[in-house]
Order: sequence, then structure tokens, then C-alpha cells
Amino acid sequence: MGGGGGHASSMADLFDMMSGGGGGGRRRGPEKGEPIVHKLKSSLREMYNGATRKLALTRKARCVACKGTGTKSGRSYVCKTCNGTGIQIHIRQLGPGMIQQMQSKCSACDGTGEMIPADDMCKKCNGKKFVTEKKIFEVDIEAGMKHGQKIVMRGEAGYTQPGVAPGDLVFILEQKEHDFFTRKGADLLMTKEITLTEALCGYKFEVEQLDGRKLVVTQKPGDKVTKPDSWKCVNDEGMPVHQAPFQKGNLYINLQVKFPEKISPSECAKLRSILPQQCSYEEADEDSDDAMEDQEEDVEHVKTRDVNIEQELRNRKDFGKAHNYNDSSDDEGGMGGQRVQCHQQ
Ligand SMILES: [Zn+2]
Ligand SMILES: [Zn+2]
Repeated sequence: MGGGGGHASSMADLFDMMSGGGGGGRRRGPEKGEPIVHKLKSSLREMYNGATRKLALTRKARCVACKGTGTKSGRSYVCKTCNGTGIQIHIRQLGPGMIQQMQSKCSACDGTGEMIPADDMCKKCNGKKFVTEKKIFEVDIEAGMKHGQKIVMRGEAGYTQPGVAPGDLVFILEQKEHDFFTRKGADLLMTKEITLTEALCGYKFEVEQLDGRKLVVTQKPGDKVTKPDSWKCVNDEGMPVHQAPFQKGNLYINLQVKFPEKISPSECAKLRSILPQQCSYEEADEDSDDAMEDQEEDVEHVKTRDVNIEQELRNRKDFGKAHNYNDSSDDEGGMGGQRVQCHQQ
């Protein structure tokens, strides 16, 4: 046990050394107040360019009128109920030779250990020793900072009690969603919809970068055809790297191809004559569907319907199980549909 304690205090010393001392000879008890943590919503634009945000916050400050004593005279008064410990001890006899001891916060002084008489109470702070002040903080969001990153303002959390240094004021960045950019580390991702015509014949579109520049993305006619759901990368147009702002991530653009809803038969004829790939449906087919079926016995023309396959598969999950009472065998599972047919015959 003793070893563990020694370790802890040496760790505290080490921390003092690293943080530039200031702790002096005090080793036990809190030397610094608890940090106060705020969430700070920030736009991707601010994280790209860097920004200074002015925030008005209220915090505790030592009462100047009484120099933090809480009294007009500067005297301190010990609570008589708890003798200044702030703790009340209750002893309960549970049985012969059995005593239960319970501690609670002193109700007379609310655990402060002090009772200031009304006539000596500081009017400015009502004996609380602190006042609340409003302060405007300038918080620097540096270029490249990320969602969840902490901005620490040392010793700005405000006054807590005599002998305790103010804690840190901490802001945790919360990135607001951007209209079209998604951030992945230092990279930016976006989706761009182009038409089928653009996919085949080239395109040109602008992307407004987070610093306001307009990036023009071009695919010339005669270049490769753009396939649906393909990706393009623009090097070094992602987010700046924190503390190395000239180093940047990439911008990745996901290209979605919007197809026309319908094309008329005459337009189809034109397309067939233009496009380099063959078409399995020739114009001659249009009149001869029935004729072909008559000629070839094994050929059957089937109908299709449009499906959303994910939803379809969810609905189909139980298909074929309805009359399958014996579901113990896995390899027969797929045969359920056939079995139903057999029963019906
Ligand atoms: Zn008390
Ligand atoms: Zn005061």
C-alpha cells in the first residue's frame, strides 16, 4: 500500500516538473481546480481556414471587496457545529458493543466549516467569497483541427477556493455537418451527380473549396467514359494537416450517373447507330416476337418487374417455408418451394 502511495506522489512531482512547477511544496490534496469543459460547435470551413471565436462565458472570480474572506472585517469564523471540519459524525448503537458511525456534510455550514455572522458578512458576495463575472474568451481554432479535439486555456476555469489554482478551461470541438463535404481524417469526400450524357461525352463542374476558391473539374469528350459510382481524386485539395497547414489531404469525388427515365424508340435507333457497343434488341425484333415463339417450342418470353433487391430479399426470406413443417435439415431448406408444389398437385 505504502509503495503505491509513494508512486502516486512521485507521479505528481513529475507532473509538476513537466507543467513548469508552481505546485511548490504542496503534494497532497487538490492544487488545481477541476477543468471546465465546453462543447464548441465549429464549421468545416473554420477547421480548414482556422478561426478565432469570441465566446462570452460566466465564471467565478475571487471577491475583491472582501479579498476572498467573505467577511467585512477579514476575520474567519469557525462553524461551532462541526468545529470547522464541515463534517458531522452520527453514532448509532446497533446492539450491545456494536456501534455504527456515519458521516455527513455539516448541515449548519453546508460543509464549508465556516459560519459568518450576518453583521460581518461581505455584502458584495454574501459571504460566498466569490462573485460571478462574465468574460469574453477568444478561442483559436487552428487550421486542420478535428472533431473531438480539445483546445485548452490553462488556468481560465475561474476561482474555486483559497489555495487552489484555477483549473483549465477546455473546449471540445464539435464539427457541424457540411452541405456536401464529408471529412475522413485529412481527406474530404463528396458526391457529384452527372448525367448519362456527361458520363459518355465529358463534363465540367465547379466545387467550391472551403477557402472560397472554385475548383473546376473537367473530363474532356473522348476521354474515358465515366462509370456509375466511380471515384476521382484531386490531390492536395483535402483538409490541411494540423500544425503543418501546407500539407493537405486529398479530395475524393464519387460520381453518380443519372440516367434518363425513358428514351423513345426513334431516339434508341439513333443511339444504336452511334454507340460503339452492340445492342441485343434489334429493330427487326419489334414485329417478330410472337412469330419467334411459334417457331421455337423451347422459347418462352417472360415478363420482368422492377425490384428493390434489398427489400425484395427481406420479403422473400420466409418464402417456401409456409408448408415446410420439417425444418430440421439445412440442405433441404432451399427445396421448400418445390415441396409446396408437390402438395398442391
Ligand atoms: Zn459546520
Ligand atoms: Zn466578498
